[in-house]
Amino acid sequence: MRTIIFATTNADKVKEIGEIMQGTDTQILQMKDIGFDEDIDETGTTFTENAAIKAKAVADYIADKKKDFMDAIVMADDSGLEIDALGKMPGVQSHRWLGDRTYTQAMQDIIDEIKDVPEEKRTARFVCSIAAALPGKEDAITVLETVEGMVAHEIAGENGFGYDPFFYVPEFGCTTAQMTSEQKNQISHRGKAVRAMRDRLIELKYIELV
Ligand code: IMP
Repeated sequence: MRTIIFATTNADKVKEIGEIMQGTDTQILQMKDIGFDEDIDETGTTFTENAAIKAKAVADYIADKKKDFMDAIVMADDSGLEIDALGKMPGVQSHRWLGDRTYTQAMQDIIDEIKDVPEEKRTARFVCSIAAALPGKEDAITVLETVEGMVAHEIAGENGFGYDPFFYVPEFGCTTAQMTSEQKNQISHRGKAVRAMRDRLIELKYIELV
C-alpha cells in the first residue's frame, strides 16, 4: 500500500483524488496528517512550475523531518483559467487577480470587458497541472490537462466554485456551474489530470491496480 500525500488544504480536492484513486493500492493523506502547516509561496510562472514547487516543498520536508514517510508520493496541483481574448489572463494568478472583488464581480467585469469580442474569439480553458514528487529524489513527474470552453455572455449555475458560472462548455450547452459534480469531474481539467497522473504512476510501477 503506497501513501499519497496530497499537498492541499482543500478537502474537496482530497475527496476527488480519493475517488479517482479507488482501485489502486493507495491511501490518501493530507499535509496536516504529516504535521506540515507552512505556507508554500507559488513563485512559478507556469501551472507546472507551481505544482512542482508545492510537491517538492512537502517532499523536502519529509526527507528532512518525517523519515517515516520516505516511501510516500507527494502530489500537488495548480490550476486556473486562461481567457484568450485577455492574452491568457488570469492564468496562474486566477485567485490573486480577484483583488477585493467577489468571483461574481470579477466575472461580470470580464464579460463587460470582452463584450465586443467576436463569438469565435471568446475561447477559454481551465488548466490543471499535477506534480508528483518522491522524497529524496530531485525531479518531479508532471502532467497537464485542460478543458476547453467559452466565456459565457451571462453568469449561470450554482454548482462548482470560482469561475465555473461563466465557463460555458459548448458540447454540454451549459456552464460548468450547471453540471453535477460527476459530470464536471468527467470532463474537467482536474479530473483529467488526476486520471492521467494515476495512469502514469501505474505505468512507472509506483502504484498498482488491485
Ligand atoms: P488553485 O489551483 O486551487 O490554486 O486554483 C486557482 C484558481 O483557479 C481558483 O481559485 C479558481 O479561481 C480557479 N479555478 C481553478 N479550477 C477551477 C474550476 O474547476 N472552476 C472554477 N475556477 C477554477
